[in-house]
Amino acid sequence: MASDSLTPRQQALREITRQPLRTPGAYRDTADMRPTPHYFGMNTFGARQMREKLPKATYAKLVEAVRLGKKLDTEIAPVVAQVIKEWAVSRGVSHFTHWFQPQTGLTAEKHDAFLTFDENKLPIEQFSGEQLIQSEPDASSFPSGGLRATWEARGYTAWNPASPVFILESGGTKTLFIPSVFIGYNGEALDEMTPLLRSSDVLSARATALLETIGDKGALRVFTTLGAEQEYFLIDRTHFAMRPDLVMANRTLVGAPPPRGQQLEDHYFGGIPERVQACIAEVEWELMRLGVPIVTRHNEVAPSQFEMAPIFEETDIAVDHNQLVMAVLRRVALRHGLQAIVHEKPFAGVNGSGKHCNWSMSIISDNALDGVNLLKPGKTPHQNVRFLLFLAAVLKGVHEHAGLLRAGIATSGNEHRLGANEAPPAIISVFMGQMLTRVIEDIAAGKTGGQGAADAMLALGVAKLPEVAQDNTDRNRTSPFAFTGAKFEFRAVGGSQSIAFPVMLLNACVAGALEEITAELKAELKKTRKVDDAALVVVRRAFKATTAVRFEGNNYSDAWVKEAAKRGLLNLRRTPEALAQLSTPRAKKLLTGLGILSKEELESRYHVRLERYIKDMLIECHTLDQMAGTQILPAGLGYLASLTRTASETKALGLKENPALAEVRKVSTLVSGLQEAQAALQVAIAKAEGLHDAPEAQAKFLTAEGAAAMGAVRACSDALELVMGDTAWPLPRYREMLFPV
Ligand code: ADP
Ligand code: MG
Repeated sequence: MASDSLTPRQQALREITRQPLRTPGAYRDTADMRPTPHYFGMNTFGARQMREKLPKATYAKLVEAVRLGKKLDTEIAPVVAQVIKEWAVSRGVSHFTHWFQPQTGLTAEKHDAFLTFDENKLPIEQFSGEQLIQSEPDASSFPSGGLRATWEARGYTAWNPASPVFILESGGTKTLFIPSVFIGYNGEALDEMTPLLRSSDVLSARATALLETIGDKGALRVFTTLGAEQEYFLIDRTHFAMRPDLVMANRTLVGAPPPRGQQLEDHYFGGIPERVQACIAEVEWELMRLGVPIVTRHNEVAPSQFEMAPIFEETDIAVDHNQLVMAVLRRVALRHGLQAIVHEKPFAGVNGSGKHCNWSMSIISDNALDGVNLLKPGKTPHQNVRFLLFLAAVLKGVHEHAGLLRAGIATSGNEHRLGANEAPPAIISVFMGQMLTRVIEDIAAGKTGGQGAADAMLALGVAKLPEVAQDNTDRNRTSPFAFTGAKFEFRAVGGSQSIAFPVMLLNACVAGALEEITAELKAELKKTRKVDDAALVVVRRAFKATTAVRFEGNNYSDAWVKEAAKRGLLNLRRTPEALAQLSTPRAKKLLTGLGILSKEELESRYHVRLERYIKDMLIECHTLDQMAGTQILPAGLGYLASLTRTASETKALGLKENPALAEVRKVSTLVSGLQEAQAALQVAIAKAEGLHDAPEAQAKFLTAEGAAAMGAVRACSDALELVMGDTAWPLPRYREMLFPV
């Protein structure tokens, strides 16, 4: 068939099957397949490079600032700036940018050239200490949730020296990226990173106080560790471009289920297709050079779905790195003719994408500069009591602030995941695994009463937990928050989210609980001088008080929904009700009390997120309306016209049978149904838009009536897709997008 007689869909399929493979030879010298450590971090300027290039005293100050989370000394900034500039310029960099995370879920950047004029008006390259430390983007067009009126739109970005600067290569040019925070002139947090950094500091202070109370001196700092597993889809770029819903909303709003989805269970951990492998390898190569330690790759459950996971890092850096993972993935995939989709639910009927946030706490002390994991039992009874104390703090934090954690993952995309039978439910509970559950229940039941803490630790076998835990704790894939041996895995986080917000909330919940636990312990220490015994009393109380939040069974089951209700756990299915948790007195008390967010900052986060939900929903509604009106209906009417012609020609021939007639009836019913559903969707859109001044009512309307109106259009469209002639159907089908040939 000549290609001009092909439909656009057929043409796309033809192009896809002829797509040449892009191999490493295209971007790296294949003779130079040197081992990873050779190029890991080569595009970053981190501690290692700083040590070589900076004067000793400057380096010492910088390292101290980074390690202890202190502010950078403005005196050393010019020296650091000079060294960074020389490094960057020697690598062919012409511009620099502060790189920050406004509350858009994405990152922001504005590039400036290393250029100024000397006294003779000759152009010279320049990068000053001030430019490194601070920059002033026009802040008026970023979401602020009412925190900052546009007429006082001044805000500035400030370098976060804990996160290394890096060179981003794009479009054949190189730019120096300076990870930064973004704050208003009165210091109010306008971004995702500032509250996260504050939560890290607060958690560090509360954890250190607890450590001191139990007699563990010498902790310089406690930091949280984070390893974010990223799930994503890779589909053909041409198909993506032909789907207005994917382009506009990152998810398909129509699409009939293909005969084969994921039921054969053959994709998970299956062989990685060659084109995908080539793409992932290039993504990893770019990320490794940016210092992002991506070490795991595999096929996920849904067709065309994959996952990558890094080695865990300090949380603040891991959050920046996850943004790089998403950005590099999108960018590099295009070079392979692929489109990466990190949306939580791009395709109905198959699994969506989450981002498991593996999280723990670590102490830095003079003799353990890399950190000692606090969620890992140790060798001595005292270390094991300490482990239980921190465990109790996590349980307490999650139990008391489950609503807040739920709010942290409330987005329009995640709404399609949570509570469906594939992803953790909207009920936040904690899975501990068999071994730990036994220990927790024995302690809660007072089985350790009478004996000292040391004997209790031995009797309970806490020290033996790590080895056994590794094998025993990862079995429950249905839990939103699971202990998986030496770390917790927050599994309900969405694939496209900036993880700064949910992780900040998790840090806050645990910091709050650490504070309470320390206070209780201090009270207990007035009764006994044996620290470990007193600690065990506090642990016992916390384990008893948090029984309701522990759940080891199947989180997908209906029985759990009932049981959770009986236990008084929240089940917040829809985004607006989940976001409302940001406005509860409990949330306010926690976040303002710890100094992580002011009252205004917290309110603004609620508004930004609610507005975002409304906007996402309206974009989906409009996209679907337009697709129905300009693609699906016209295609349906065109197909109907051809059927009608056939029917009347058949009739004219005077034949006994007129098979086209039955088809005409079938298709015309579906087309009329689609027309009606589209009209109803338009009414819903108008109603929703009429609620513009009442965002809460608007969000509620959209989550109920808006979603239902979209669902009705989809049902008609999907039915039509399954009866219309293949060449008449205008959109790439699920079969074609998810099962590349
Ligand atoms: P699992 O099989 O339970 O998912 P993995 O060992 O594969 O466990 O780890 C998954 C992710 O958890 C990785 O990104 C890993 O770096 C991260 N991780 C492991 N230990 C920790 C820790 N102490 N703190 C934070 N993340 C961790
Ligand atoms: Mg995991």
